[in-house]
Amino acid sequence: MKITAVETSVVALPFDMGGPKPAFAGRPWDNLEILLVKVETEDGLVGWGEAFGHAAIPATKAAIDTIVGPLMIGRDAGDIQGLSRTILHSLHLLGRNGSFVYGYSGIEIALWDLAGKRANQPLYRLLGGRDRGPIPGYASLLAYNDDALAAKNTAAASARGYRFIKLHELTRSAVLASQKAAGDVPVMMDVNCAWSPPVARAMAASLVDDGLMWLEEPVWPPEDVEGLASVRAYGIPISAGENVAGLFGFKTLIDAGAIDIAQPSVTKIGGIAEMLKIFDLCEAHGIEVCPHSPYFGPGFIATLHIIQARMEKRMVEVLWLDMEANPFDPWVKGDKGLFAVPEGPGLGADPDPSVLARYRVGDVTRIDGRNRS
Ligand SMILES: [Mg+2]
Repeated sequence: MKITAVETSVVALPFDMGGPKPAFAGRPWDNLEILLVKVETEDGLVGWGEAFGHAAIPATKAAIDTIVGPLMIGRDAGDIQGLSRTILHSLHLLGRNGSFVYGYSGIEIALWDLAGKRANQPLYRLLGGRDRGPIPGYASLLAYNDDALAAKNTAAASARGYRFIKLHELTRSAVLASQKAAGDVPVMMDVNCAWSPPVARAMAASLVDDGLMWLEEPVWPPEDVEGLASVRAYGIPISAGENVAGLFGFKTLIDAGAIDIAQPSVTKIGGIAEMLKIFDLCEAHGIEVCPHSPYFGPGFIATLHIIQARMEKRMVEVLWLDMEANPFDPWVKGDKGLFAVPEGPGLGADPDPSVLARYRVGDVTRIDGRNRS
């Protein structure tokens, strides 16, 4: 079935994270923004995707509106493997990790939504999975840079039913304060590539007896796989992968002995098919996969389906914040820290049009046969 239109739009959702909001890439982060991608086929069927994201949205939207969207018009929506090869090859000179791949990732998610709707199957079944019930969330606390606020929000997330907590704090004292507040709930530490390898090794040495479930992206820059491996040698499980390019980015991490847990991100890495390849690669090397998913739209819902189909010990990353409303409720909200996987065809979670209309910001851009250059 031919693709006839690609549409991009943004919603901005007011949120509360239990403390002052941080900056994101130097910009104030007042609202949670989601870049939505809608793909239509000639029979009128519609699929939804989400492309990365947050402060990168203006660049990703421009990449889709000007380059990636026009490339999709007239293509066979069911040929996902072929399109990933052809489109990503067409784009590779523009960067193997960045706006263009993020843009394609959002479109690819929409193609899977369409494929599931056409097959009348929820995505996780299309991927060969079965219903295993709701998925435990791990509460991914945003950066407070404040031990007391980190501990307070740890306690709140644990009280709401989350069975795992991840901090975005940079100090051992924050880890200890959070662990005290968490009781039996395991704590992870994500420092977003904050440290040079020598500093990261010193931090790992100081944290080694603290029982962290994992230490995430301790090393700057993220492509320094030998530096990361040198931190892993201290014995704390190391996770990384949200900033690498595609399957071969993970091969490089694994070949260097740098990670225990791989964290591919569906809205960044090239979409669902690329995620599945990374699961296969990691399985062959005895590496766990725990996807990166700080999302509240189709990116999050696609991640739920992938986890349901492929992850052995299931756990989904959920940013710890409360939104005023979300067009993808109830799927993005959870209940006592558990997240149901939609049973409807495809992603099984089309957005609520009235919520979309209420929170939409900026232009809706529609690429179709008429404006294809
Ligand atoms: Mg992270």
